[in-house]
Amino acid sequence: MASRTIFNPTKCFPPHPLLSRHLSTTTFSPARKICPLLEIVPIDGRGFGTIATQEIKPYTLIFSESPVGIAQYNPLDRYQEQVSIAAAHSAMSFGQKAGFDSLHEGVRPFSTKEMRIWNANCFMYDSVGSNSTSAVFLDMSRINHSCIPNAEYDANFSKNRMVLFSTQRIRAGEEVTINYGHEYMLKAAEERNAHLRYIYGFTCTCKACVDPSFKSLSDKRRRMLKEDFYCGMHDHSTAPDFSAKALGIDEPSSMKPGSLTQYIDAGFSDGINIFRPGTIQLMRRSLKLKFDEGLGGESFLSAAFTYASTALIIMHKRMRDRKSRLPVDPLTDLQRCMQLLLVSERLMREIKPREDKGMRKMREKKENVMGMWNSVILEEMTVAECRETLAKILSKEPDPFSGSSAYRA
Ligand SMILES: [Zn+2]
Repeated sequence: MASRTIFNPTKCFPPHPLLSRHLSTTTFSPARKICPLLEIVPIDGRGFGTIATQEIKPYTLIFSESPVGIAQYNPLDRYQEQVSIAAAHSAMSFGQKAGFDSLHEGVRPFSTKEMRIWNANCFMYDSVGSNSTSAVFLDMSRINHSCIPNAEYDANFSKNRMVLFSTQRIRAGEEVTINYGHEYMLKAAEERNAHLRYIYGFTCTCKACVDPSFKSLSDKRRRMLKEDFYCGMHDHSTAPDFSAKALGIDEPSSMKPGSLTQYIDAGFSDGINIFRPGTIQLMRRSLKLKFDEGLGGESFLSAAFTYASTALIIMHKRMRDRKSRLPVDPLTDLQRCMQLLLVSERLMREIKPREDKGMRKMREKKENVMGMWNSVILEEMTVAECRETLAKILSKEPDPFSGSSAYRA
């Protein structure tokens, strides 16, 4: 006869909050070590957070986790979203529900507790066509926000897991933080915090929000980048052509900040017809902001790679066709783009040592572009040299943020 596990609430971890009222032994706390590098601990004034248990090198895979639930993401139809979230919640096991219910509830006036917890903790997960999904993770959701984070997350769909990478060196005992949304990249501190308070109910206390001199520099950079992009959107004559028309978008004024990143990405990756003098300056500003303020990681490397390869293809096409001149200062731009191409691909291989489809495409593209320019491929560059080169490209050269916005007359 098969043995049957007898349910014992004192052994249920984490205990359900309703049960815990009847148990005099414990008060539920998520505090524990969740992997060799990371521990969940109470943080003064911020509920719980995650602390590095030992020093973590840049671009290290810290932790990965499967979602406890996946639901439709649809801010335009909250009822449909609510139905989907309720279904995801009811499919959770008893222990998962207890973990979910213990997460921060947020401050938005949604009608159900599940909706409030879900929307305060979910990550955008997958997007196929117009169908987007969001997912909640019991441990990953404990990671706090910083506008200058030291880690970044990304979904690995083939394994149905969310992965967390360091984007810089993290000391033992330091809090590991992520940026809660790409939309914060182009917002100044006051604007970011108004949004964070509305969505999550907290005010950020990172260096870019509270240190007066760092905050003023950071605000200036983010505003300047935003100006550049908006200038491009409104078809300024010397700006890269990010116009709504070029991208097949009808109403530029209806664009929300959240979709600005998609807009930027579309602008760069669609390439050929939209590259104009000034694009490289825009790329450099965007990358330097990410590099200096910790908004790095996999998305940073892949953006660097896309920008560099796109610029190299366009420069080559222009030379070959002799239809137009190369951008101003072509040799420096060419050299800078080639370094960026090589360094970003090399560091990406550190993050993803096993070649998947995306990495194979990246390698093939790199080989094509380098072959196109008949250049020496610096395969033997070490990771340390790559990081040094990246730092040089982005830090030691004249500050791309000095002077006024690139596209203002
Ligand atoms: Zn902040």
